[in-house]
Amino acid sequence: MKLQKRFEHGNLTVEVYGGFGEVGGNCIVIRDGDRKLVFDYGIRYNVMRRYYGGRIEPLGPAEMIKLGVVPSPEVTEGTQALYISHLHLDHVGLLSTAYSSTPIVFPDRDIARATIGAWYEKSPRWLAYIPPRNWDLTSSARVLSEDKDSVIAIPVSHSAYPATAYIYMGRGATLFYSGDFRLHALVQFFPSLEESLQKLGVNSIDVAIIEGTNIGNPAPPMARSGFEEIMISSVKTFDGVIVSVDPHDFEAMMFIYRVVEKSQRDVVIASERIYWMLRVIYEKMPKHINKTLTALETSKQPPPIPLSSVSLVNEVFKDMKRYIVVAEPVHLLEHLRRLKVHGREIDLTNTVALLLDPEPRETVREVENKVLIQWLEMFGAQPQRVRLSGHYQPQQLKQIIQILKPKQLIPIHTEEPELMLRLFEKYRRLT
Ligand SMILES: [Zn+2]
Repeated sequence: MKLQKRFEHGNLTVEVYGGFGEVGGNCIVIRDGDRKLVFDYGIRYNVMRRYYGGRIEPLGPAEMIKLGVVPSPEVTEGTQALYISHLHLDHVGLLSTAYSSTPIVFPDRDIARATIGAWYEKSPRWLAYIPPRNWDLTSSARVLSEDKDSVIAIPVSHSAYPATAYIYMGRGATLFYSGDFRLHALVQFFPSLEESLQKLGVNSIDVAIIEGTNIGNPAPPMARSGFEEIMISSVKTFDGVIVSVDPHDFEAMMFIYRVVEKSQRDVVIASERIYWMLRVIYEKMPKHINKTLTALETSKQPPPIPLSSVSLVNEVFKDMKRYIVVAEPVHLLEHLRRLKVHGREIDLTNTVALLLDPEPRETVREVENKVLIQWLEMFGAQPQRVRLSGHYQPQQLKQIIQILKPKQLIPIHTEEPELMLRLFEKYRRLT
């Protein structure tokens, strides 16, 4: 992967190897004297889609590196650490291609292992190169305190949990790297960006590398209030409520619980890939566990904490009013297809299926929405796509600039870098 852009601020150099003028594929190298840090190591999906599709799959990492789909391993040479902002693949990339001595910092190492580790390690496809080669060289980011390389993790809201922005307290300058983020969380169980900076005593930033996914987007995605309205009215109106949740999207899951809390329904988890969340729910909001069941048909493996289970076929689909079914799309389809094969007549009339589709450009989609919708309709359910964004809304950029007060802006993860810079020039005068 070639160098896309180089920026200088005093003695600090920022090299962008992916994510400039494009959504996804972030890879940023910071040099400060003898110190070298890498932020994210992502897959560039806009390049990937150009060369692959259907049965044309990557031959392996060498080809992907050659085509510039992923960063070249040399960017990790001699680095103190590689910091990952969150677990979407356009930020994680093929970690096992990094230099073998590279320490990798995740927002939460255990969650990384329970998700990208467990899902991809045994994959027969190129996905097997996503987990790091050696988990012993990985660690969890230091939240709101400085690590040995002067990096501080700031928890932020995103459609992959946990997500962190990072501040580098450089020798001559401070740098902020946003990863992907929403300004307001769906469920706020960590300090806001503003509060975090206050806690740290950081009043302004020298260089801010900020994502701009939604800047210039003519179809602005749904905000929290829209999602809340759909959830509440669905629970009120429909007998059945099925929600397909991306298996990284813990915040959406917590939001579902918040709505369920006010109803008589229980949450039925019908996908193994969502199981990792149960441990986090147990730690953060244990009361929700009492309202949670697992689907009997799902599990080859038991959930990480003991839970009662319920049969989708014999109980849930016969009395949908009592439940909200949460599943990732592929599993949901699997259940329905099996029923069809076995000739079971399932009538899901007056059931809504909310398909959360947060970041279509930032990950591999395992099932096409069109196909999913066909199947759901065949069973009488009403599918509804919910485009809840994991990114801040365009009108919030001004507020972000006011919070960070950066001297220099580097736009990343956006198709509109020029527009972002022009907006920055306007907003900075107001700070
Ligand atoms: Zn993301």
